[in-house]
Amino acid sequence: MRRPSADRPAGRSSGTGRTPRPRADQPEQLGFAGMPERLFVCTPSKLGAYEDCPRRYRYSYVDRPAPPKGPPWAHNSLGASVHTALKNWYALPVDRRRPEALAGLLKGTWVRDGYRDDAQEREAFRRALSWLEAYVDTLDPATEPVGVERVVAVKTAVLAFNGRTDRIDARPGPDGPELVIVDYKTGRSGLDADDARGSQALALYAYAAERVFRRPCRRVELHHLPTGTVAAHEHTVESLARQVGRAEDTARDIMSAERAVADGTDPDDAFPAVPGVRCGWCDYRRVCPTGAQLPGREPWSAMERPPEPTAES
Ligand code: SF4
Repeated sequence: MRRPSADRPAGRSSGTGRTPRPRADQPEQLGFAGMPERLFVCTPSKLGAYEDCPRRYRYSYVDRPAPPKGPPWAHNSLGASVHTALKNWYALPVDRRRPEALAGLLKGTWVRDGYRDDAQEREAFRRALSWLEAYVDTLDPATEPVGVERVVAVKTAVLAFNGRTDRIDARPGPDGPELVIVDYKTGRSGLDADDARGSQALALYAYAAERVFRRPCRRVELHHLPTGTVAAHEHTVESLARQVGRAEDTARDIMSAERAVADGTDPDDAFPAVPGVRCGWCDYRRVCPTGAQLPGREPWSAMERPPEPTAES
């Protein structure tokens, strides 16, 4: 879906003074009747960036050189630290997957960026460690996931999708083992079944995992570590197909916008800004003429107040 530009009348130059290098700068494919269209190579975050705000997509994936990002966010550091600690917990031999190992694992993976000061960082470390201890208490150390931070990939008529899952479990199903997509969440707000159902990323992971492992994969779960809750959804073949179709529609919109820029359309019109609450948390707020007019957040703000929760973050 194309959205109207929100920050300026049509026809003016880019707000950052940058002209994105259109993809036509890449070696051009010569077309002929019946030739299949180039597949759109994507990840969940690439699709999500465009769906949230085409301008943010442009800053991230089209403009070259890319505009400078703002400083790192403390909540991203916290999330990355917890994810890597869990990944490394599964890399331990089974007899060492014990709660006592967690402090060392977290220390070894701790990302320090974005915190207001040492006291806030120490408090975040304590909080993360308590989440991890409570979480691994719910896990059977002897159960090996099918994949940990495993990349799954699939092609459709439009997409060449790839994405890194947090974890893929195998659980008994009525007709044998079935795969479950597990996604860890560390935001301070809880998530519910609607978030699991609506997550395009989880659905695409499930769709891809089913094809990579040739086993049914319909269940998706959001594991919210701060509250110890699990939000789950059982997809059907039809609901997964709908999510894939939605992703393909987004990919078509992106390719159409990129073609328009290559054909001379002003990049600000092809990739309109869609301002909202998320602008305060956007890496490109300082270079975005629309976002710059809206209040920004400090890199550590989410440590005091949570960002708007989304199932994709
Ligand atoms: S600041 Fe807001 S409008 Fe600008 S790119 Fe970011 S999300 Fe889009």
